[in-house]
Amino acid sequence: MSTIAHEETLGFQTEVKQLLHLMIHSLYSNREIFLRELISNAADACDKLRYAALDNDALYEGDSELRIEIEHDQEAGTVTLRDNGIGMNRDEVIQNLGTIARSGTAEFLKQLSGEQQKDARLIGQFGVGFYSSFIVADEVTVRTRKAGSDKAEGVEWRSRGEGEFTVADVESERHGTEIVLHLKSDAKEFADDFRLKSLVRKYSDHIEVPVRMPRVETAKDDDGKEIEGSEVTTWETVNEATALWSRPKGEISDDEYKAFYKHVAHDFSDPLTWSHNKVEGKLEYTSLLYVPGRAPFDLFDRDGSRGVKLYVQRVFIMDDAEQFLPLYLRFIKGVLDTRELSLNVSRELLQQDPKVEKIKSALTKRALDMLKKLAKDKEGYQTFWNTFGTVLKEGPAEDYANREKIAGLLRFSTTHTDSATQDQSLADYVERMKEGQSKIFYIVADSFNAAKSSPHLEIFRKKGIEVLLLSDRIDEWLMSHLTDFDSKTLVDVAKGDLDLGEIEDEQEKQAQEETAKAKEALVKRVKEALGEEVQEVKVTHRLIDSPACVVLPEHEMGFQMRRIMEAAGQKVPEVKPILELNPEHALVDRLEAAEGDRFADLARILLDQAIIAEGGHLDDPAAYVKRLNALLTA
Ligand code: ADP
Ligand code: MG
Repeated sequence: MSTIAHEETLGFQTEVKQLLHLMIHSLYSNREIFLRELISNAADACDKLRYAALDNDALYEGDSELRIEIEHDQEAGTVTLRDNGIGMNRDEVIQNLGTIARSGTAEFLKQLSGEQQKDARLIGQFGVGFYSSFIVADEVTVRTRKAGSDKAEGVEWRSRGEGEFTVADVESERHGTEIVLHLKSDAKEFADDFRLKSLVRKYSDHIEVPVRMPRVETAKDDDGKEIEGSEVTTWETVNEATALWSRPKGEISDDEYKAFYKHVAHDFSDPLTWSHNKVEGKLEYTSLLYVPGRAPFDLFDRDGSRGVKLYVQRVFIMDDAEQFLPLYLRFIKGVLDTRELSLNVSRELLQQDPKVEKIKSALTKRALDMLKKLAKDKEGYQTFWNTFGTVLKEGPAEDYANREKIAGLLRFSTTHTDSATQDQSLADYVERMKEGQSKIFYIVADSFNAAKSSPHLEIFRKKGIEVLLLSDRIDEWLMSHLTDFDSKTLVDVAKGDLDLGEIEDEQEKQAQEETAKAKEALVKRVKEALGEEVQEVKVTHRLIDSPACVVLPEHEMGFQMRRIMEAAGQKVPEVKPILELNPEHALVDRLEAAEGDRFADLARILLDQAIIAEGGHLDDPAAYVKRLNALLTA
């Protein structure tokens, strides 16, 4: 066995002492992360040996099958981690396991205030590395030997985590590192096969190095009884040992992509599509993003789970890292693996890291491109749109920079199909625009049917001009942020003056002006009769079948948004509508011929009807019914 020589006891660097103290007292509720940290170090050590051995095969010492082994001894209360990676020499041990060299540590420690609670929070964010062993162990022994060195150059490091550590030279047959944790009396739960295995799967499934644990098998006799002394130990690989996203695209089958999706998204159905990208250069990351085919139950819950699974160099860091995608893409699932962040990154730190913002804008672009590609598959995109369309509609408001791209991905109902299915793009609309048409027209109403049969559409239908029919709750909000597409202004047909521009010829315009003149007196009388109920009365040419309609000034909040806000108990600034009359309508002729009370009643009925047609509510519906009935029986 190994002989111990040249033993010396050294003190930890002050910062280490500080860190140890804080860690032990503050990471109580999150103790299991010690395993993640130690496996990550072991995997790094294997990576380093693999790299060094590229030039010098002898470093493997005949054992090139890199692996991590985890054993436990319930009785002794120990957990042992072993790797056949690069190992350390004596100087490295003293340096690496006695000081903190990691960049940012000093700064981090400066932030510590000495206040127990505040520091506990900070340290939880910081993450911890090798020293996290002392969260669960009251004594740690590390035996290590640098790959390629003499068997006599092994080193043993021991510490109780209380200010000092001991190093000694030992003989070591194997290169690599072995760490024995003597568990604290209240941490014995970790000396458990099931617990260890599930932690390995949770944190290290996609580490490329296999993590193995022993399995003891006992032979049985013909009666099924265990044969004493027949135990054989075999090593079982516990983790997946391959990071799917780190493999080249060409080598991954669709079935593998789909299976992986089900794993990350906890979904049992297939994704609609995915996008796998490995980016090198200034900003290094690998992303694998998926568009699910089904909506999660909490899609519209602002605090619902969203975001990607975050890995740093294939080490799992956290689920639902929501900092890497905007809210309107919260349905996207997947994985982000980057070397731009430290293993110790936390949610709080993510919010402050400028690199996160850069990755976010890159991933946003990836996601939008993926949707654009999906749009080529009509059926698949329709499934996507029916499931997530209303979420994507939040995009133009949230992400001004990408609004043109997002606009291209939107789908609408329109008068072209008159179908409630939202399956027409703005590009489709633009392609069908009339000669001389320079604007994209739309209407927003409470329901598809209300939009479809709105009086505002009459002139458009007559002239064969297409209008987008919007009726989702978010639509008015969407349109207030989507002012143009393909250099064409989007115009709400229920707001402001109707200007069909060059679609109308000079003759029509002149005729309209003449009618307006002829009806000047009527307009004045109606305004007098309705008083403060309306802002203005006008003659219109947008109506064909209806006698009247109400319109809002161009920059006012629309009717739909008002109703939504009112329903939510919000105060909405009051606005009086503009009443527009159809000079060609028989009812308007009747109105013109009426006098006194009858005139006032008729004018009032026209206004009320116009409000109802708009989907609005009358202040006094009973009065309307009374007036109408009086008229019907007259
Ligand atoms: P980090 O991994 O962030 O560098 P750690 O505290 O986890 O910080 O580890 C400190 C250092 O100790 C590592 O950088 C590495 O040089 C060394 N080390 C830790 N574990 C091992 C191991 N299993 N094999 C070789 N070196 C190791
Ligand atoms: Mg580490």
